Amino acid sequence: MSFLDSELVFIKGVGTVKADALKTELGVTHVRDFLQIFPYRYIDKTKVQKISEARADGDVLLFIAKLVHVEKITGKFNKSRLVALVKDDTGFIELVWFQKIKYVEPLLVEGQEYVIYGRVNLYGSKKSIPHPEFEALIAEANIRPSYDPVYSSTEKLDRVGLDSKVRRKILHFIFERLTPSDFPENLPTHLVQSLKLCSRLEALQWVHFPASDQQRNLAQNRIKFEEFFWLQVELLFTKQVKRQQLKGAAFEIIGHYFKEFYDRHLPFSLTNAQKRVIKEIRADMGSGAQMNRLLQGDVGSGKTIVALLSMLMAADNGYQACLMAPTEILASQHFKALSELLLPMGIEIGFLTGSVKGKKRVEVLEKLESGGLLFLVGTHALIEDHVVFQNLGLAIIDEQHKFGVAQRSKLWQKNRKTPPHILVMTATPIPRTLAMTLYGDLEVSVIDELPPGRKEIKTIHKTEGHRPEMIRFLKEQIALGRQVYIVYPLIEESEQLDLQNLQEGYERLLPHFPAPEFQISVVHGRMKPQDKESEMQRFVRGTTQIMVATTVIEVGVNVPNASVMVIENSERFGLSQLHQLRGRVGRGAEQSFCILMTGYKLSQEAKFKMSTMVRTNNGFEIAEADLQLRGPGEITGTRQSGVVDFKLLNIVKDLKIVNAARYYAEEIITNDPLLEKPENLPVRNHLSNILAKKKDWGRIS
Ligand code: ADP
Ligand code: MG
Repeated sequence: MSFLDSELVFIKGVGTVKADALKTELGVTHVRDFLQIFPYRYIDKTKVQKISEARADGDVLLFIAKLVHVEKITGKFNKSRLVALVKDDTGFIELVWFQKIKYVEPLLVEGQEYVIYGRVNLYGSKKSIPHPEFEALIAEANIRPSYDPVYSSTEKLDRVGLDSKVRRKILHFIFERLTPSDFPENLPTHLVQSLKLCSRLEALQWVHFPASDQQRNLAQNRIKFEEFFWLQVELLFTKQVKRQQLKGAAFEIIGHYFKEFYDRHLPFSLTNAQKRVIKEIRADMGSGAQMNRLLQGDVGSGKTIVALLSMLMAADNGYQACLMAPTEILASQHFKALSELLLPMGIEIGFLTGSVKGKKRVEVLEKLESGGLLFLVGTHALIEDHVVFQNLGLAIIDEQHKFGVAQRSKLWQKNRKTPPHILVMTATPIPRTLAMTLYGDLEVSVIDELPPGRKEIKTIHKTEGHRPEMIRFLKEQIALGRQVYIVYPLIEESEQLDLQNLQEGYERLLPHFPAPEFQISVVHGRMKPQDKESEMQRFVRGTTQIMVATTVIEVGVNVPNASVMVIENSERFGLSQLHQLRGRVGRGAEQSFCILMTGYKLSQEAKFKMSTMVRTNNGFEIAEADLQLRGPGEITGTRQSGVVDFKLLNIVKDLKIVNAARYYAEEIITNDPLLEKPENLPVRNHLSNILAKKKDWGRIS
């Protein structure tokens, strides 16, 4: 057994109380895992400053100073603060605590020297640092300047004495007992050489205790590389093992249904992107393995026809196909669109949502089970247990971010003999790096071209003073017979306020657009679903010209006659959301407009959002910009689930490492799918460790 497998409780300086805290606070019990808790920053003792070097408010200062005086001061309302005056040979500065006084106070000893780090507040010539990081200067540290790791802490860890200083000691003790043989190389030699990676042991030693910037960079590079590399190897490996093992229905022929529709009833010629994607889907479904494919295409890029052609391939091979949408209204739009397209061929489509009841429902279910229906469109109602297909061969899911993985797997079970092929369609462009992370186990097709003749949506940013002008413009557009959306933000914490904004906005609008000449729909999240639905329908039918809404307006709703999207307080939306909203217009033949309303004063970030929206209509470009702004967790809503949680890697900033890791992972798995070549033995061993931990290995090997 390696020392790495020792329990922390037996390590010198730990003991039961600390071991317990490490377990509950950080989830670590063994030496191996403890080494994986990396510092979040370093105290660069090679660059110790002097107090006089803090010149401006907000300067960050690292310095060594002697504690002159410490005092607890009770202020108004019984609020205490702890103030410590420290000095070096250039001057004085005050350290102030408003919280955690109980823990800090005993650590402050007059006459003692401390290493102190913090952000300086400057009031006139008086300097102070609220809540600095600090530790007593020990003689040893004076000998040679170094980088000291700083670890993030919790109140409990502080309380049991597991501050950074103690953790450093424990780590030193551990490193003294480790040798390179505890960390056999897990990457192929050629890769280590061409990327000039340090060894695994060095990476750990140097990430905790670097002697120089260069060492720290080397260590971080190796760790970041491995973070992405192993994720990719795992995803690519399991993907291709699945592909070999999960038999799917082989759609071998292109028959009557497809040909007849393609040759005689296709309402337009396909774009090159659509053709390419259909070829990819066809190759997948014809291969004999089960397809799991993600189809990405910006709003209006024409995913529906791709879905339909895929469904026709299923029919040609004697299978049924279904299309599942996230909401009733989207399902019914799909149903209408597909029914119309198939009308000349006399193919009937079933429709199943929560609101299909009684005799109608029974009829659909019967026909589905007997094979009397080839195609079914619906909401999640179609994955309920009592919905039985005769022979489902293809399941298409629209707008996947609203469905979970669980629903995907329920669809799998809708055919007991062979799981149906799965095609997930999404209009939310996902930056490439994120797609690799989140959908690394899916094949990805992209429609990156809009149908010809589409007019680019004109996007304009207007400040409050231009509101009258905006209103005039809406009137003109409505006079031309068009419809208009006016959207207000809805953010949960301030829901009440948002609703009030919407209400006021609506009331401000009324005098400009008096009934009966003008009709206005209002839709917001507090309404009953039926009321929402019927208001939506009034707008869809063209009864109302203006739709005032919070962001509840459905993601895929298609009202081709709506040509203006006004977004109020648009600085409060995320970029991707703005782009999604803009996608509600520009669906008809007319020139469409998106008007972004904001106040005068905008933050840098808000300005960047506005200028990005005005500059480009390209969803992928916007997704990338959004990723830069907000980071992966916020975008995917996966912050909690940890899908994009890396310890050191930042998929935005470390793009080069991400690309290299993906490249090598692909190269290895493509050339040696089962990892049988001698040079890949280390990879095989390490991967089997990873998979064993996830209890997946048994199923796969
Ligand atoms: P989305 O990808 O947003 O689902 P749709 O499939 O609804 O897009 O297509 C948007 C509109 O573009 C529809 O009215 C559709 O008929 C039309 N369309 C799709 N493909 C083409 C094409 N190749 N040429 C012309 N119009 C097309
Ligand atoms: Mg669509």
